[in-house]
Amino acid sequence: MQPMYDPLTSAQLGPNDSYPASYWATQGMPQWPVRSALPEQAEVVIIGAGYTGLNAALSLAKDYHREVVVVEANQLAWGCSGRNAGFVMPSTGRRSYQDWIKSYDMPMAKAIHAEQHAAIDHVRSLITDSSVACDTQHGGYLKLAHSAKANQLLVQQHQLLQQLGDAAVLHSAATVAADYVKTPVAHGALHYPQSFAVNPMQLAAVTAHAAANAGAKLVTNAPVQHWETTPQGQRLHTAAGSIEAKQVIIASNGYTPNHLHPAIHGRSLPVLSSIIVTRPLTAAQQQQIGLIPAHQFMDTRSLKYYFRLLPDGRLLFGGRGAIRGRDANKPRYAKHLQQALQATFPQLETVTLDYFWSGWVSVALDDYPRIYEAAPGVFTSMGYCGAGVAFSSLAGHRLAQLTSGDALPELPFYQSALPKFPLAQGRRLGQWLYYQWARATA
Ligand SMILES: Cc1cc2nc3c(=O)[nH]c(=O)nc-3n(C[C@H](O)[C@H](O)[C@H](O)COP(=O)(O)OP(=O)(O)OC[C@H]3O[C@@H](n4cnc5c(N)ncnc54)[C@H](O)[C@@H]3O)c2cc1C
Repeated sequence: MQPMYDPLTSAQLGPNDSYPASYWATQGMPQWPVRSALPEQAEVVIIGAGYTGLNAALSLAKDYHREVVVVEANQLAWGCSGRNAGFVMPSTGRRSYQDWIKSYDMPMAKAIHAEQHAAIDHVRSLITDSSVACDTQHGGYLKLAHSAKANQLLVQQHQLLQQLGDAAVLHSAATVAADYVKTPVAHGALHYPQSFAVNPMQLAAVTAHAAANAGAKLVTNAPVQHWETTPQGQRLHTAAGSIEAKQVIIASNGYTPNHLHPAIHGRSLPVLSSIIVTRPLTAAQQQQIGLIPAHQFMDTRSLKYYFRLLPDGRLLFGGRGAIRGRDANKPRYAKHLQQALQATFPQLETVTLDYFWSGWVSVALDDYPRIYEAAPGVFTSMGYCGAGVAFSSLAGHRLAQLTSGDALPELPFYQSALPKFPLAQGRRLGQWLYYQWARATA
C-alpha cells in the first residue's frame, strides 16, 4: 500500500490523488458540480473543498453575492469530509459544558449549547433544501459509558444538559442492552435524539452543488504550493496556475501543509482517525448485537471508539489510527480496530473486513476550534478535534460572515487565535506519550 500524505512531513499534497478506497467511495460516487479552470483573480479564494470551504463558498456567494473561488488540492471532499463516520452531533471540540462553566459561566455554556445545535440544524437544512437524501439515519447518538465511573459522569452531564434545556435522555445499562446495543462495554448511555447520521460524501456533494449553483467556482487538482503577500492582497500559486485575491480563507484543516502560511504554523496537531467496515452482517448477527441501522455510538474513553450499523447491514467501527502518515495504511492498525470491535461484540465470532481507511483531523492545543483573521486578509477555521461534521458546516457560514465584516456571536471560538503548540517540533512525541497514558488508563 502507498504511504499516506502527512501534513507535517510530506513535501507536497496532490494534485490528482484519487479518493481513498473507503466504503463511501464505492457507494455510487455523487455527481460533482462541473469543475472550472482557475480564474486569474477573485475577491475571496478558499483553500480546501471540505465542509468548511464549501459552506464558506456557499454563504459568500449566496448570502453576500461575493466572487469566490475554491481551490482544492485533489478532488472535492478528498479530505476528512469524504472519509468520516457521518455522525452529525453536537460538538465544538473536546471540552465539556462543565469545562465551559469553569472557564466562563452558565450563560456562556447555554450560548455554546445553542451554537452546537444551530450547527446540526444547519446541516439538516442543507439536506432538506436538496433533492439528495444523504442516506440519513435518524435514531440519534448514544454516548456509551465504558465503566461504572464513566457512568457516574454521564449522570452528572445529564443533569447539566437538563439545565441547558437539552432533550438528551439517560439510559441504564439494562435499557441500552434491551433497546439499543448488546455489548459488555456499556454501563449506561446518554442519548442525544437530535443527532443523526449521513453518508458524508453525499453531504459534501449536496453542499458543493448548492455552492456552485449560487455562483462559487470550484477548482480541483489545484494545491496551493506557494503564497505571496502583495500590496494588492494575496497571490496564490497552485499546480493549476496562479490566482490573486483580496481575501483568503484557509479551510485546509487537518490536511494543512506544515508551511502553508506562517500565521498558522504550529497551531494544529494533525491526528489520524481510522475506520474499518465489515462485510454485511447476517440478520442473525445483527440480532446478536442488537443493532439496527438507526443509531450512532461512541464510548467515553480518552481514545474513543465509535460505531454504527450502515443501511446495508455493514458495521462501521472507528478510532484513533497510526501517528505518522507513512504508517497509516499498515494492516496492524486495521487489526487493532478489529480487536477493539471484537472486544465490543464478543458474541460475533467472525467478522470479515472489506474496508479500512484513515484521515487527518486537526486537534487544537486547548481542545476547541477557532475561527479568526490570522493575518490581514487571511482567515481560517480549524481545530475541530475530530468532531466537525456539524460544526465545520456552520463554521463555513461564520467565516463568510467574518470576511464580509459582519459580527459573530460572542463565543470563545470567535474571539481569539488558535494557540501555538509550545514545541511545534515535539507535537508527535507529545501525542505518542498521550496515547500511552490513555491506553494504560482506559
Ligand atoms: C475517520 C474519520 C472519522 C470522522 N468521523 C466524524 C464523525 O462521525 N462526526 C464528526 O463530527 N466528525 C468526524 N470526523 C471529523 C470531520 O470529518 C472533520 O472535522 C470535517 O470533515 C472537517 O472538514 P474540513 O472541511 O474542515 O476539512 P477537510 O474535509 O479535511 O478538508 C480539507 C481540504 O483541504 C485540502 N487542502 C489541504 N491543503 C491544501 C492546499 N495547500 N491547497 C489546496 N487544498 C488543500 C485537502 O485536500 C482537503 O480536501 C471524522 C474524521 C475522520 C478522519
